[in-house]
Amino acid sequence: MEITKRIKKQQDLKPLPDEDNLGFGIHFTDHMFKMNYSEKEGWHLPQIVPYGDFHLDPAAVVLHYGQAIFEGLKAYKGKDGKIRLFRPMENAKRLNKSAWRMCMPQVDENDFLQAIKELVSVESRWIPSQKGTSLYIRPFIIATEPFLGVRPAKEYIFSIILTPVGAYYAEGFNPVKIFVTDKFVRAAKGGVGEAKTAGNYAASLMASEEAKELGFTQVLWLDAAQRKYVEEVGTMNIFFLIDDSLVTPSLSGSILPGITRDSVLTLAKDWGIKVEERPISIDEVLESAESGRLKECFGTGTAAVISPVGSLYYKGKSVEVNGGQTGELAQRLFDEITAIQYGEKEDKFGWIEFVDCKK
Ligand SMILES: *Cc1c(COP(=O)(O)O)cnc(C)c1O
Repeated sequence: MEITKRIKKQQDLKPLPDEDNLGFGIHFTDHMFKMNYSEKEGWHLPQIVPYGDFHLDPAAVVLHYGQAIFEGLKAYKGKDGKIRLFRPMENAKRLNKSAWRMCMPQVDENDFLQAIKELVSVESRWIPSQKGTSLYIRPFIIATEPFLGVRPAKEYIFSIILTPVGAYYAEGFNPVKIFVTDKFVRAAKGGVGEAKTAGNYAASLMASEEAKELGFTQVLWLDAAQRKYVEEVGTMNIFFLIDDSLVTPSLSGSILPGITRDSVLTLAKDWGIKVEERPISIDEVLESAESGRLKECFGTGTAAVISPVGSLYYKGKSVEVNGGQTGELAQRLFDEITAIQYGEKEDKFGWIEFVDCKK
C-alpha cells in the first residue's frame, strides 16, 4: 500500500502537552490516517493528513444505524529509545472479526499494521517517555454512505487517530470497587458483544453511571439470559484466582476476546499456574470470597493492563477481595506485561513489533 502523506509545516505543529498531566484521550496528535472504501473501488486513497474534521453527510449510515467498529492499542517508548507495539496483528484480526459481524468490509491486515507504523513514525515526537505513559492508537471504521434504508452501507472511512496517555497507575495500584448489576446487561449471546462496536459502549453507559452514583468504580456484567454467570467488568475481561486456579469466563459469544486476556492466560500457563476458561457464576465468586478461597480478582485490558478488584457489591452485600489490596499474581502479571511492552524483558512469545523512526 502506497500511503500519500500531507505533513504539516514545522511552525504549524501543535505544542506537546505536559507529560505529567496527559489523562486519557484528551490530546490528539497533528496527523491522522484515513482511507476510503466504495463498493466499486474497494479500499483506496490511503493517506496521512493533518488531524481534522470528516465531512459527513447527515444521512451517513453510521449516524443512524451505528455501523461503527474500533480497536485500541498502544505504542510504547522504551528506555532504549525504541518504539514498540504489543501484538498489533491481533488487533487487525479482531477488527476484521468485528467488521464481519457488522457487515462492514475487511481491511488487509498488513495494510492495517503498515498504516499504524507509518502514522506512529510520523508522530513519534508525541510518544511520551515516562514509564507507564504511551501513545494510544485508535483505529476505527465508520459507514459514510448517505442512505436511510436499512442494509449494509456501500461506503466507509477507515481512520486511525493517536492520543498520548498518562500512566494508569501514576500513584500505584488502586484496587477498584465493583458494582454487580443484575438490572442491566451488556450483551446477549447471538448479539454483538463479541464485536468491538460503538453501540456496546452506548449500551453500557447507564449501568456505569448508576454504579458511579452509588460510589463504585465499575460494573460487573452478568449474562443476559440468566443474570447468573460473570461476563466482564466495565470494558475489561475478568479473572479470579480461586485457591490456586486462575479462572476466567470462556469466550461464550457475548464476551469481547481481549488481547490482554489472552496474554494473561499465556503467561499464567507458562508460569505453571492452572488456568480455567469456563462459566463462573456470581454465586461461586461470592461463596469463594466468603470461604476465603477467592485470593484475587482483576480486570484486564489495554488501557490499564491489570486492574485489581478490591471489593464486589451484589444484591445489598459487599465482599472484600484480598483485604482490598492488590494481589501478588495481579502485580506479577502487570510487571511482566509492562516489562515486555517497554523492552525491559525478553519477548519470548514474539509479541513485539517495532516502529522504525527515521528521525
Ligand atoms: C477492548 C475491550 C476489552 C479488552 O480488550 P484488550 O484487547 O485486552 O484491550 C474487554 N472488554 C471490552 C468490552 C472491550 O471493548
